[in-house]
Amino acid sequence: MPEKPISIALAGNPNSGKTTIFNNLTGTRQKVGNWPGVTVEKKEGKIRYQGVELLIMDLPGTYSLTPFSIEEIVARNFILDEHPEVVVDIIDSSNLERSLYLATQLRELDCKVLFVLNMTDLARNRGIKIDTEKLSELLDVSVVATVGNKNQGMDLLLETAVRLAESNTDVAQRRRVRYSKDIEAAIVELQRHLEAQYGDTLPYNPRWTAIKLLEDDKVVKERTAAAVGERGADIFEYVVRLRERLMDRYAEDPEIVMTDERYGFIAGIIKEVQVLSTRRRVDVSQNIDLVLTNRFVGFPIFLFFIWAMFQLTFTVGDYPMQWIEAGVGMVSALLDTLLPQGLFKNLLVEGIVAGVGSVIVFLPNIVLLFFFIALFEDTGYMSRCAFLMDKIMHLIGLHGKSFIPMLMGFGCNVPAIMAARTLESEKDRLLTILITPFMSCAARLPVYIVLAGTFFGAKAGTVIFSIYLLGIALSILTGRLFRSTLLRGADAPFVMELPPYRVPMFKSLMIHMWDRSKMFLKKMGGVILIGSVVVWTLSAFPRDIDYSIDYDQKRQQIAADYDRRMAEAQGAELDALKKENASSLGQLEHRRRFERAEKSYMGKIGKAISPIFSPLGIDWRNSVALVTGFFAKEIVVSTLGVLYAVGDENESEALQQALQDSDMTPLSAYAMMAFVLLYVPCIATVTTIRQETGSSGWMLFSVVYSTALAWAVAFAIYQGGRLFGLG
Ligand code: GDP
Ligand code: MG
Repeated sequence: MPEKPISIALAGNPNSGKTTIFNNLTGTRQKVGNWPGVTVEKKEGKIRYQGVELLIMDLPGTYSLTPFSIEEIVARNFILDEHPEVVVDIIDSSNLERSLYLATQLRELDCKVLFVLNMTDLARNRGIKIDTEKLSELLDVSVVATVGNKNQGMDLLLETAVRLAESNTDVAQRRRVRYSKDIEAAIVELQRHLEAQYGDTLPYNPRWTAIKLLEDDKVVKERTAAAVGERGADIFEYVVRLRERLMDRYAEDPEIVMTDERYGFIAGIIKEVQVLSTRRRVDVSQNIDLVLTNRFVGFPIFLFFIWAMFQLTFTVGDYPMQWIEAGVGMVSALLDTLLPQGLFKNLLVEGIVAGVGSVIVFLPNIVLLFFFIALFEDTGYMSRCAFLMDKIMHLIGLHGKSFIPMLMGFGCNVPAIMAARTLESEKDRLLTILITPFMSCAARLPVYIVLAGTFFGAKAGTVIFSIYLLGIALSILTGRLFRSTLLRGADAPFVMELPPYRVPMFKSLMIHMWDRSKMFLKKMGGVILIGSVVVWTLSAFPRDIDYSIDYDQKRQQIAADYDRRMAEAQGAELDALKKENASSLGQLEHRRRFERAEKSYMGKIGKAISPIFSPLGIDWRNSVALVTGFFAKEIVVSTLGVLYAVGDENESEALQQALQDSDMTPLSAYAMMAFVLLYVPCIATVTTIRQETGSSGWMLFSVVYSTALAWAVAFAIYQGGRLFGLG
């Protein structure tokens, strides 16, 4: 038995069910990361099957192995360089022709390939029958049929893969694509030349290298040149001559000719193995689409779904939110009684528990939002959203596909920006990344809830909705602006794919949802924790403060007063006195904390930066909150809590009361909400932007642009509103 695990790579077209099968096979034993150097997600999982250790890898979804996109290069390099023992090609049986292109390309490589005919249920429904034995025979490859979302065929898949890995079959491709005479001749000629001259220095097998060189494959050219070194100069001259010869013969680039011939080969296979029943069942998906993508009712239905999503997210999320709130309260009360008085206790209770606690209560909302987004994705409805939004997105110079990241942005900007990876054109991707942060993420909502709740009362819902709309409007304007300046160019032509509707699988929904929620939790343990500690530290120091009055003395005075009056009081007066005493002590404590916040480092910082924000009607306390919001927008609320010195109980009500008593007006609150909507997204988003654009330049640009826009818009709202006598 081999010591090293057998490595099995899953390849296949996007949407062929790779991830579903990967999840079936590995369950929760997965590791998610990135492929080195590029922003393509890498998933792997180790499992044990019948005593054999297997390392299963989910390759990026691709339609071919020509190095057009990062995904294709990653998948191809992995197979070529890492030599997985078995490459499992997941094939969408209901779309055999498209899937076979990749399959035949894999067949040209030196690796053990296993074909998995997935989605056999869909194929059957559509009246497609595939002769698996014939297919296996024609391409000399093992074939297994599966239904990924019903977990059918997984055992057979593993068993066949292991058997294949342990077998000694000659992997040299006996059943390869047959090219026409002249092409084949050129391949053989070049292959011989390569073998004779450079035999063992070649990085890949000679035939494949010959084919790729004739196709003028950039990556293979570079690799070959690097491997053979100086002596290889003549290879490329040779290739140029052969290519010219073929060009003369076919009047077309050999690459195109070879692609055509592969398709011809595939068409031949299809004829042999696929039988279409004459009475093809009317496609259910098409019927559903008659309604959901209908010109007239499609859009209202879409709006209804989005509205329902938000509605459910917040109504259903309210229950667990209360439990978590209660839990956080209990923890903080417990720590309060258990720990000895002192700085450490303050840090723990007022800094960490209060800070992280005020954010973690939004976890249910966020998880639910991700659940609905996963539901949209897995049923296939998300593609319909993209389709419906296509016209509107063209206003920005983007097509409907960019709408998916934007919609996800309402959940959290981080996965949303990552979702822009699905866009083919680099400019489209950049533009989408730049405007996605204006989609108001769930983290900003707490800020709106507090501000709108305080200053707009019953109209809060509408006000918050208007903020969301403002974000959308500004993303459209920004999109148009950049499209006609920085990222000029037409949107890439693109055929909207509408995959068939599917009943989503619970497990896959859960995994999708969990993958993204995990990010939120990580943020909790990372930046939010750090942010809370920083905020607390800045507000707790310096320790010695010159208070304007002597609070201790005042407290003693109140106590003495109380004792004196209690001695004289009787009956109902006693209760009234007790109440009065508690309230004046509370007020005194509040005043003390208020003053301490003002004289802390945080207060000093706030006063220093407040000139920047005062034209927006934002005072020094709110300015500090905005600055700390850079860690994560959720922290804005907890910072306000610290600065307005609200006590531990009834935090949100107390904060609203304190805000009400401050200088803020509905107008300045609205300006602040607009600022929160637009200014630099949180640290996590900023890092994601850098990672996804691969450039600190774009990251900086995004930060500066959004903050400048936030300032300008908040200024316009506040000063404009004042002009009209609104505040
Ligand atoms: P990937 O893009 O290749 O990773 O594809 P996914 O694993 O995300 O699958 C796309 C969709 O196809 C999901 O909604 C799956 O639940 C669904 N799916 C996967 N396998 C099958 C299958 O055999 N039959 C049907 N009807 N649906 C499937
Ligand atoms: Mg996938």
